[in-house]
Amino acid sequence: MALIRCVDVSIGYEGQTVVRDLDFSICAGDYLCIVGENGSGKSTLVKSLLGLKNVEKGRIIYGDGLKKNEIGYLPQQTDTQKDFPASVYEVVLSGRLNSRGIRPFYTSADKRAAEEKLELLGIRDLAKQCYRDLSGGQKQRALLARALCATKTMLLLDEPVTGLDPIVTAEFYQLIRRINRESGIAVVMVSHDIESAVEDASHILHLQEKMLFFGTAEEYGKSRIGRTPRLRCGKIRRA
Ligand code: ADP
Repeated sequence: MALIRCVDVSIGYEGQTVVRDLDFSICAGDYLCIVGENGSGKSTLVKSLLGLKNVEKGRIIYGDGLKKNEIGYLPQQTDTQKDFPASVYEVVLSGRLNSRGIRPFYTSADKRAAEEKLELLGIRDLAKQCYRDLSGGQKQRALLARALCATKTMLLLDEPVTGLDPIVTAEFYQLIRRINRESGIAVVMVSHDIESAVEDASHILHLQEKMLFFGTAEEYGKSRIGRTPRLRCGKIRRA
């Protein structure tokens, strides 16, 4: 059974449809890249997948035991978030907030999970540093560790390499591939980088007001839209 099924979904703001006729599934272990030009509805879809925005039409069905509050989310970075005045450890630990419910304190299991994720992402030595003093790449690792604290099943990453230099970008993609392959966590990534998407992802969803393409990355590479540079929107190229 799919972790998420979108059935005939349309989403919009104040009666104005932004993206329509979405029919696709995400299964355990998938690596789905959502691509499309600016304004094509990628972030809007992400909000609906997280349950933060109601759909206008159709249904988003969660299966295989996945609850929408158990998706690990790495949002697009805003300037305010970049300045967040907390330690790296506190930022990572806050990934457990959803599962903490009404408990007032973090448990030792929460703290263990945060330490494990810091170790996994190679940032244990940064734990006590202030988050806002980190480099862009270190910040993204901390936020990825935070997202991993929130899930055992699915990561949702909204343009996670924006603003990173090519080497850090390549390292970040490698990390995502490793997490996906070694732990089987499904990855859903909004990306402008179609070259890397086709190389790394198992599936591609290409949006442009509607669903231009959904299928495997291999099928996408052979499709008219996947082969036509004019129709692509890649901005960052692999180092
Ligand atoms: P993308 O992530 O592909 O760049 P978005 O999902 O952010 O696209 O936006 C899709 C469309 O929805 C755009 O035309 C944008 O202006 C509009 N939009 C996004 N957020 C809002 C909002 N909160 N209220 C009204 N319109 C919005």
